[in-house]
Amino acid sequence: MKTPEQYEESLRQLKLKVYLQGELVENPVDHPIIRPSLNSVKATYELAQKPEYEDLMTATSHLTGKKINRFCNLHRSTEDLVKKVKMQRLLGQKTASCFQRCVGMDAINSVDSVTFEMDQKLGTKYHERFTQFLLKIQEEDLVVDGAMTDPKGDRGIAPSKQSDPDLYLHIVEKREDGIVVRGAKAHQTGAINSHWILVMPTISMGQDDSDYAVSFVTPSDAEGIYYIYGRQSCDTRKLEEGDIDVGNNKFGGHEALMVFDNVFVPWENVFMCGEYEFSGALVERFAGYHRQSYGGCKVGVGDVLIGATALAAEYNGAHKASHIKDKLIEMVHLNETLYSCGIACSAEGSKTASGNYIIDLMLANVCKQNVTRFPYEITRLAEDIAGGLMVTMPSEKDLRHPEIGKVIEKYFKGVSKVPTEHRMRILRLIENITLGTAAVGYRTESMHGAGSPQAQRIMISRQSNMEQKKSLAKVIAGIPTEE
Ligand code: SF4
Ligand code: FE
Repeated sequence: MKTPEQYEESLRQLKLKVYLQGELVENPVDHPIIRPSLNSVKATYELAQKPEYEDLMTATSHLTGKKINRFCNLHRSTEDLVKKVKMQRLLGQKTASCFQRCVGMDAINSVDSVTFEMDQKLGTKYHERFTQFLLKIQEEDLVVDGAMTDPKGDRGIAPSKQSDPDLYLHIVEKREDGIVVRGAKAHQTGAINSHWILVMPTISMGQDDSDYAVSFVTPSDAEGIYYIYGRQSCDTRKLEEGDIDVGNNKFGGHEALMVFDNVFVPWENVFMCGEYEFSGALVERFAGYHRQSYGGCKVGVGDVLIGATALAAEYNGAHKASHIKDKLIEMVHLNETLYSCGIACSAEGSKTASGNYIIDLMLANVCKQNVTRFPYEITRLAEDIAGGLMVTMPSEKDLRHPEIGKVIEKYFKGVSKVPTEHRMRILRLIENITLGTAAVGYRTESMHGAGSPQAQRIMISRQSNMEQKKSLAKVIAGIPTEE
């Protein structure tokens, strides 16, 4: 396994083309806006080196028998699925942000079983190719960006019917040595901190869309790929002096638009090329795994937010009020309910034909559906308890000012034994998670990441087995079941 330092060094070797606020970034690794997101991925390497986290952070490769980072693992049991969620909660607690590496883990697990089933049905050789790629990832302990979401243009029409054919990523040329692809993937979590990109189709496709039914891997700095970095609320605070106003000085997440401008992919890196009838299964499985993931990562960030809120109440001197205690209980209840779903869909997982394990799809979708709601309520309660100061407070520069600093100290003091600076720090952390840079991962991503709420409702409907429920009711009510 790589050390955190080796991981950072490996990113320095990449020749990524990244645009940020209209400028080409020379050195993404040390850019103050990007750097916190790198630190979060680096934490996945750091924690894997610590004996106390070894059981959660590492696994045994089924290919080599060697110890590997769990982010490179194919789940071989329901226990592996449960440990995945626990690992994500742990990392959420340690970073209070999106640590990005899960998309690749969820992608490799989906592509493994789908390529196996494709080969069985169609006699293709995709699974063998994929396994070679997996071996490399495990041996070199690499970060993979799982790239699914296309820009999608007009949501009412199919990929091949769009006025601009590039609104879904597609094959533009099939050559003897490989394929050429064009298009883009949007909202790409952790793209700039990744070594490889694993591309998958974004929706279930029909025959007319077979050029869009494509899955492959490519190095993140391959010729023709470039990135346009996504803005986050309050991101330019990272360019300021001091460390209070950012709320979370060390960690963060990022998303980017990833553009494929006629990128060549050799055949050995292609895992789907026109087999449109398998695109739906790939989407469903990747979405299912990532919906499970949210029952871990969001819960870990929620733990930090609940802790920060409890501290804010103490620093305000309001912690003994019964309604404050009750609101904190409600936050914990909601957070643990999310965790329960993450654990449940893992414990109820099952083996696929390729031998890796998949979550229970119904419960994973229920998990994510709850995630589209509960972090909003947790956030509302955090803001209620924190008070309005979390959005009206002067800056760190004011606090450090030789004259007005004393005024800040005096008027923003809560209970006398707690320094004003500590109160400011905790309120800024709450602001960061609920409204600032980390809110991308905790708030709006809870709504739209791993699929918007309606996507889960469709899956819940499909998995609901309503006929069986109706016949249960008929039996109890004394109605003949054949009526
Ligand atoms: Fe991992 Fe959560 Fe970020 Fe997705 S949102 S990559 S599950 S930390
Ligand atoms: Fe996500």
